[in-house]
Amino acid sequence: MSRAHRWDERLSQAAAQRRAADGWRQRISLGPSAQLIDFAGNDYLGLAADPRLAEAQAAGAKRLGAGARASHLVSGHLDVHQRLEERLAELTGRPRALLFSTGYMANLGVLQALCDRHTRVFQDRLNHASLLDGARLAEAPSRRFHHRDLADLERLLERAPREAPALVVSDGVFSMDGDTADIAGLANICQRQGAWLMIDDAHGLGVLGELGDGCVGQAHDHHQVPVLVGTLGKALGSAGAFVAGDAAVIDHLIQFARPYIYTTAQPPGVAAATLAALDILEAEPERRDRLHANIARFRREADTLGLPLSDSGTPIQPVVLGDSSRVLRWAERLAQAGLRVGAIRAPTVARDQARLRITLSAAHDASALDALLEALDGCRREEAA
Ligand SMILES: *Cc1c(COP(=O)(O)O)cnc(C)c1O
Repeated sequence: MSRAHRWDERLSQAAAQRRAADGWRQRISLGPSAQLIDFAGNDYLGLAADPRLAEAQAAGAKRLGAGARASHLVSGHLDVHQRLEERLAELTGRPRALLFSTGYMANLGVLQALCDRHTRVFQDRLNHASLLDGARLAEAPSRRFHHRDLADLERLLERAPREAPALVVSDGVFSMDGDTADIAGLANICQRQGAWLMIDDAHGLGVLGELGDGCVGQAHDHHQVPVLVGTLGKALGSAGAFVAGDAAVIDHLIQFARPYIYTTAQPPGVAAATLAALDILEAEPERRDRLHANIARFRREADTLGLPLSDSGTPIQPVVLGDSSRVLRWAERLAQAGLRVGAIRAPTVARDQARLRITLSAAHDASALDALLEALDGCRREEAA
């Protein structure tokens, strides 16, 4: 067999395996007037389509150009990036913040820059893929502790070599489950064990906290949580991410984080749109109130219908159905009712934990929630029949 032919074989084998497991993923390309009501995205405050963000983005592009032209360390670091970093540091109550192009890159960058073979990384079992990949990029020996299990974490820290710097890493809000990390509990253990704590608050920023400052934010300072990651493409409706911490951490990342150094800076219009989103976050707290009212209503009524709810007080409301064909059936029926939800299967979650990932937003009105609850009830009745 020729060498080139082996590539064909590799690809077709991988495809066949994935299809056999009901795991084949399909992209749907959406036009400007997509007819389905979206219960799958992460636009928790309804900012992604806000005309004020689009206008700020257009104005930023007109003033500074469509692209940033270079990386931050060459000539791509523009005043709009600088202002955005200052606002993000202020929002999260940290001395400094550093902008990245995506959350995936921020997590790779932090772990690669802070860690190496001589450090130890401890991750919650359900952490986001980018955190796991970051530790691999760093070639840092890693252990995973049971989900939200502080005792298991402490046991692993006790056993690890004392001379190796230790970094404990957790999602703030877990992206497939919607439950939250016990930040105070993690910070306590880290303090006792002399470890640093890194929290990825991708789904908490804009949603949780008194000011929308997330599940860490101003409630837990940078001594408790030295490394805080937030993303800007979810509740803030824009794109990009940041790391917030003290000057030593941020300067270290600027010097050593390869996913920061070797990439073109974010387009200036995008940074301008995020600044507009931060203004709205501050001026319109009623968006967070509306979101939390939607979450409360959904949980109350879904519970009355007997749907299997998870222990989540966040916009992420998974309905765990078990096997992936059942999940696809329910998602299809919801789509017929004009509703889009996430159909989450292995390998994103464990094989027997396939689920609908329903996300709520301040943009959903009462009739959208009516339609969702009615369609879910329809799925349940159909199965019972
Ligand atoms: C979405 C997400 C990321 C990645 O952020 P992007 O900006 O989309 O690359 C990182 N961590 C968590 C927990 C996320 O949910």
